[in-house]
Parts: sequence; C-alpha cells; structure tokens
Amino acid sequence: MRDDNCIFCKIANGEIPSKTIYEDEMFRVILDLGPAAKGHALILPKDHYKDLYELPENTASHVMLLAKKMAAQMTDKLHCDGFNLVQNNGETAGQTVMHFHMHLIPRYKNDNQKIGWTPGEPSQEELEEIRNQITG
Ligand code: 5GP
Ligand code: ZN
Repeated sequence: MRDDNCIFCKIANGEIPSKTIYEDEMFRVILDLGPAAKGHALILPKDHYKDLYELPENTASHVMLLAKKMAAQMTDKLHCDGFNLVQNNGETAGQTVMHFHMHLIPRYKNDNQKIGWTPGEPSQEELEEIRNQITG
C-alpha cells in the first residue's frame, strides 16, 4: 500500500534518507526539515493513507499511542516546556504533503511560535444549530 509518487512513502520506507528518531513495523518518526521549534518531528505510517479519513482505525489508535510515547521521550530529552500535536487534513486545513502525518512539536517558553486560531463568538443559538447539524 505505497504510492510511487509520494515522498513520505519513500522516506517512511527508507528509500530516501531522513533523520529518524523512531522506527517500527508500522511507522517511522523523522525530524521535520522545516521545524516550528527544535525537535519538531513527524509520525509517518509506512503505508500510504492520504489523510485521517483514509487512515484505518487500527493505525489511528497506534498513532496516538506512539505520539504519547514520543512526547514523553522528547520532553525528557529536550527539556521542552510544552508540546503540540498537530495533524492537518486537506489543503484548506494546511496539509501540504498528501500522506497522513502527525506533527510532534516540542514548545519552549521563548520559541515565539504561534500555533492557533482567532476565537469566534457564536451565540447559543448558533452553537445549537451547529450541534444539530453535526448530530442530526
Ligand atoms: P503539512 O503542512 O502537510 O501538515 O506538513 C508537512 C511537513 O512536512 C512540513 O512541516 C514540512 O516542513 C515537512 N516536510 C516536507 N517535505 C519534507 C521532507 O522531504 N523531509 C522532511 N523531513 N520533512 C518534510
Ligand atoms: Zn505516501
């Protein structure tokens, strides 16, 4: 289940070298070439899934277990002050490489990075309408 035209397939399966910080049968974890902060890493499944929608449940559950394990190790070794997990799906959401990946981003008190959004101010009625749309 690999895509010959996908750079993350090639990296995950070792055809293109990377700074690997963890590997098992299902995943490779590599340092991001354009880090938001020191130690920014990516969990890559070795099989090709475009995004979260395509990811099988079993792989999805293992991604979160691995994210937790990596966050603990990286926090211990890098002495970061906080940690973001980021996972983008679709160009609109900021996904630039169309092979599922989870960002592991150590955060430091003075890293001057912003990972966030401008909060909206929905009314209770609007929230209720959205709730109904999602659950209806
Ligand atoms: P996205 O925007 O799709 O959520 O994240 C893609 C990430 O992959 C970016 O943070 C970018 O820096 C990283 N990236 C893109 N190409 C490569 C590459 O060839 N090697 C590594 N290590 N990271 C890459
Ligand atoms: Zn791929």
